[in-house]
Amino acid sequence: MTEDTWGRVCRDLEKTIGKNNYVTWIAPLEFHALENGVARFGVPTNFVGEWVKRNFGDRIVEHLVRNGVVVDRLEFAVSGAKASVAAATRPAPQPEARSDVDLPGATLDARFTFETFVTGKPNELAHAAARRVAEGGAVTFNPLFLYGGVGLGKTHLMHAIAWELRERVPEAKVVYLSAEQFMYRFVQALRERDMMGFKSLFRSVDVLMVDDVQFIAGKDSTQEEFFHTFNALVDQGKQIVISADRAPGEIKDLEDRIKSRLQCGLVVDLHPTDYELRLGILQQKVDMYRQQYPGLVISDGVLEFLAHRITTNVRVLEGALTRLFAFASLVGKEITLDLAQDCLADILRASERKVTVEEIQRKVSEHFNMRLADMVGPKRHRTIARPRQIAMWLAKQLTQRSLPEIGRRFGGRDHTTVMHAVKRIEELRATDSQIAEDLEMLRRTLEG
Ligand code: ADP
Ligand code: MG
Repeated sequence: MTEDTWGRVCRDLEKTIGKNNYVTWIAPLEFHALENGVARFGVPTNFVGEWVKRNFGDRIVEHLVRNGVVVDRLEFAVSGAKASVAAATRPAPQPEARSDVDLPGATLDARFTFETFVTGKPNELAHAAARRVAEGGAVTFNPLFLYGGVGLGKTHLMHAIAWELRERVPEAKVVYLSAEQFMYRFVQALRERDMMGFKSLFRSVDVLMVDDVQFIAGKDSTQEEFFHTFNALVDQGKQIVISADRAPGEIKDLEDRIKSRLQCGLVVDLHPTDYELRLGILQQKVDMYRQQYPGLVISDGVLEFLAHRITTNVRVLEGALTRLFAFASLVGKEITLDLAQDCLADILRASERKVTVEEIQRKVSEHFNMRLADMVGPKRHRTIARPRQIAMWLAKQLTQRSLPEIGRRFGGRDHTTVMHAVKRIEELRATDSQIAEDLEMLRRTLEG
């Protein structure tokens, strides 16, 4: 495709999407190349690329095709960065990337550094452990095993370790890759009959980080090889960092000897975010966007509203904010609560808590080792009545049910009984740390 053709496509686009849209989104695009049906463009920021792809991608392809260009996909890279697939979804790396061509690692995301990682109670331990590893000193715990639900920052922390080590200990060979990539490498080595190469490559690494290790569960020969690599590195005193979506002991179809090896070092979990952490993360993102869009105005209370309502995971939270910014900058409006509610209706609906009273009763009776039937039964002994009160309190906190409705679901009890239970547990929560802990844990498992 020539510059001329792109020029023609631009004029067509301007007619179909309107002058404003055209000036904001299409004019900043820089046509770079057309290869194998992929048209590559330079964009001023990653954000523009993503927005254009999502909102105008199909239309651009359509107009290109109409002008005789053979294309089925668009890719955007931040201008100045090399136009690569990785750059299309990521901003240009700030820390200068070294040429690690001989190392088998994955690309590091430039946004995932310690500077951009917001800490709070749920992740402070994981953060501190990651920091320690990133100092690059003597190995004190091996491996560092990070686990937690999706979108809580495991990958972010691992990338942050890698960035930091590159700066502090540039001569160290630091390799980050997903368990899936590890498997892919392994299978490739088998196919090419180059196990020697594979082994010596991985055994020459100083710091090995393997993300989402639950992926190799049930994949026997990959596990076997992982185990050997792991042991060889540990024996040489090399640092290993592993992440997974659950604790080592809870990964199904993972060999016992691997489980116990993984538990040998420091195992830390990233807890679900709390309100303060979510708010902190939002504030940080807003500060970052402000540098890009100085005109951005956000009404009071919008961030608090989002932090309160979107509790699922940080990725969803970020997505919501990105969409809000895009929308506001498109229509040139201040971001108000109304706008947020409109623009994010689907996300807000999806993250509504959907815990049921029955679920609460089940979890609480499991937790206190009592029969589910006793939740709704007549027994009034403390060992049964107290957990029942706890379940009522949780039902009040986590569901939209009214007191009479809750009472009915607890074997037809009166709403005053529920009210009393809620009050009693409130009191105990303030005075009895064991109960406070139980409540917190139950709430977390129910919400997670
Ligand atoms: P995981 O690997 O645990 O699924 P990620 O590390 O990919 O989660 O995090 C998902 C997104 O949320 C990323 O964009 C990441 O930057 C962001 N994120 C998660 N936790 C934090 C945090 N504490 N501070 C800033 N950003 C965070
Ligand atoms: Mg991850």
